[in-house]
Amino acid sequence: MPEVIAEATIPVLDHGFVRLDAAMASDLSVVNAARVSFARHKEAMDESDEGLIRFLMREQHATPFEHSVFRFHVRAPIFVVREWVRHRWSSFNEFSMRYAKATEDFYVPEPEDVRTQVGKPGSYSFEPVEPDVAEAARDELRAVYDAAFAAYEHLMELGVARELARLVMPVGAYTEFYWTVNARSLMNFVSLRAAETAQREIRRYADACEHFFAEAMPVTHAAFVKLDRVAP
Ligand SMILES: Cc1cc2nc3c(=O)[nH]c(=O)nc-3n(C[C@H](O)[C@H](O)[C@H](O)COP(=O)(O)OP(=O)(O)OC[C@H]3O[C@@H](n4cnc5c(N)ncnc54)[C@H](O)[C@@H]3O)c2cc1C
Repeated sequence: MPEVIAEATIPVLDHGFVRLDAAMASDLSVVNAARVSFARHKEAMDESDEGLIRFLMREQHATPFEHSVFRFHVRAPIFVVREWVRHRWSSFNEFSMRYAKATEDFYVPEPEDVRTQVGKPGSYSFEPVEPDVAEAARDELRAVYDAAFAAYEHLMELGVARELARLVMPVGAYTEFYWTVNARSLMNFVSLRAAETAQREIRRYADACEHFFAEAMPVTHAAFVKLDRVAP
């Protein structure tokens, strides 16, 4: 279970976080969206409503889940965000290195997260490396990040525009964005990105998003988990 700190923020990786900025999300809103078909409205959940949510999930009646919406504020390395923005059924606004100075924060994996890949494409497994290899990899990353940031600052000292100076920034640099997503699309994201097949780094972010989803919509989340985490 990810650690939640003040103001609904979960720290992720070495300089990142997922913060739940706002949510209009509940199991009851799923129930009421479904029951409007029969001109019915509930003020509180009961057992039959829990059964209804499980039915909707099982039968892939997905639209009632679209009325619950989450807005997240996320800080993550660029390579994670490259994967994240592929999820088209959601809205993004991202920090711009055209307008603001790049951050000096870069992702350096913890030694236990430095891994090697074994096997063929599509069925890799990721194994830990020896401690000296992990330290060498971390040193290599830090050296590249230091050189890249020094080049970035030098280009700006020369008067080069930020939009060009940013070309030297590696994908390990941190960026931040706001992400608004409905519960149906969030389940698709969690299904794909909190899975064992996803890259470890985005998986940690997906776990954090899932924590907030489960907190706001416990019955929906339980039904999603029970049905093998397949989004409706
Ligand atoms: C483990 C893993 C490896 C990946 N590897 C690669 C890779 O090597 N290269 C790469 O390019 N991408 C890769 N991806 C990204 C992947 O192809 C998807 O772009 C990404 O996961 C977003 O999923 P999505 O399209 O379901 O989500 P969304 O874009 O949010 O779409 C949600 C759903 O809406 C529907 N939908 C959305 N747009 C369309 C459309 N145009 N036509 C029809 N239906 C639509 C689909 O049902 C879709 O599932 C990878 C993803 C994962 C999880």
